[in-house]
Amino acid sequence: MKKSLLYGLLISVFISCTQTKTNDESKFSPLQKLQEGNKRFAAGKPVHPDETLERLRELKKGQHPFAIVVSCSDSRVPAELVFDQGLGDIFSIRTAGNVMGDYELGSIEYAVEHLDCKLVVVMGHKDCGAIKAFIKSEGHYEHFDHIKKIIEYIESEQEEKNLESHLELHLDKAIDANIEHGLTYLKGSEPILKAFYDSKKVKIIGALYDIETGKVTFDTNTKI
Ligand SMILES: [Zn+2]
Repeated sequence: MKKSLLYGLLISVFISCTQTKTNDESKFSPLQKLQEGNKRFAAGKPVHPDETLERLRELKKGQHPFAIVVSCSDSRVPAELVFDQGLGDIFSIRTAGNVMGDYELGSIEYAVEHLDCKLVVVMGHKDCGAIKAFIKSEGHYEHFDHIKKIIEYIESEQEEKNLESHLELHLDKAIDANIEHGLTYLKGSEPILKAFYDSKKVKIIGALYDIETGKVTFDTNTKI
């Protein structure tokens, strides 16, 4: 085969591969991208996309993450790994027990308003230490540290109050209630998120991550 013909062939194969990748990516919604990425992660077959220096250089022009993920600071819950995404893909908000206040809200508003993110996922996880601490405290956390603030926040969530007494409180139910609280909190947050959510410019959905299997279960009806 002549050299020029070989080069031509290689170039056309490269172009068709690039086009296929682009087409594949564009046909997925933000939610589907997360779902597909999590399938790869949970199957032990991550492709680790968007981790190159080239990608980083591309992003110098500006970031356009396709999703905001609010999740726990727990070291087993990194959104980029769990959803097999890379640089510039996910706008990540993480606090213990995925509790949210003004700083977290401001960060989410920025990504929705200025980075054009159209999906917010509130992702709780099984066996969450923050929720466990809340249950264990039975309404009387005895230490005067800043962890107390997190426990008190979870305690103040109406969704947790709607459950049975602390003694009967089941961890999984408390985790679900915490996710539900996050969703209600964001959907009602004035002035930005409520307006974007009500006018269907942004989707806000709940998810539960299983730290044993690596699987994320999404609930598009918000009830977990
Ligand atoms: Zn946690």
